[in-house]
Amino acid sequence: MSDRETRHKASMQKLKERVDEKVASATEQRGLIIVNTGNGKGKTTAAWGTVTRALGYGYKVGVVQFIKGLWECGERNRLEDDPNLDVAIMATGFTWETQNREADTQACREVWAEAARMLADPDVYLVVLDEITYMLKFGYLDIDTVKQALENRPPEQTVIITGRNAHRDLVAMADTVTEMQEVRHAFASGIQARRGIDF
Ligand code: ATP
Ligand code: MG
Repeated sequence: MSDRETRHKASMQKLKERVDEKVASATEQRGLIIVNTGNGKGKTTAAWGTVTRALGYGYKVGVVQFIKGLWECGERNRLEDDPNLDVAIMATGFTWETQNREADTQACREVWAEAARMLADPDVYLVVLDEITYMLKFGYLDIDTVKQALENRPPEQTVIITGRNAHRDLVAMADTVTEMQEVRHAFASGIQARRGIDF
């Protein structure tokens, strides 16, 4: 064996030991709070990826979409016939288009009621609160209400929160937080959002 191969083998052995150690020390089993935030693309895509993953094992999944302007999406078209998937969508138009605070607050309350129902149901294995960060930012929804529902949810239930500028309390209570960092986005070069790729 060459020197290089010997060194590689030794370093792989060390890596394996470190990974094995970490795997052995992860003994707790419970549902998670996952936050996908940041300005880069991929927050909602990653959430739907996890929805597909959970449905693939026959788990019940709830998705709550807090901004209707982003309603058209291929994932939903593909998965909506799955009897284990329950999707709730906010009833008004895109928040930045309607600029009707009262109507938006009411619509937000209504769709939050659906979210609260899912967050209280032990049969629901995964709940996605898509773009909920904006509801908190605009003051349509109260952070304490959301925190309480998350804290009291069934222990086996996982919740994914998506949207930019996640409230610091949500970041603090989450088990897994990913900040999507924008390096570049095609839209900035004048390229339109693509069907089946961006939505
Ligand atoms: P995606 O749904 O593609 O995973 P996202 O959830 O991370 O994106 P949003 O802010 O919710 O980000 O994006 C809404 C729409 O804007 C999507 O069509 C998305 O592809 C697009 N988008 C995402 N990030 C950016 C960005 N940095 N600049 C411009 N458009 C973006
Ligand atoms: Mg999104």
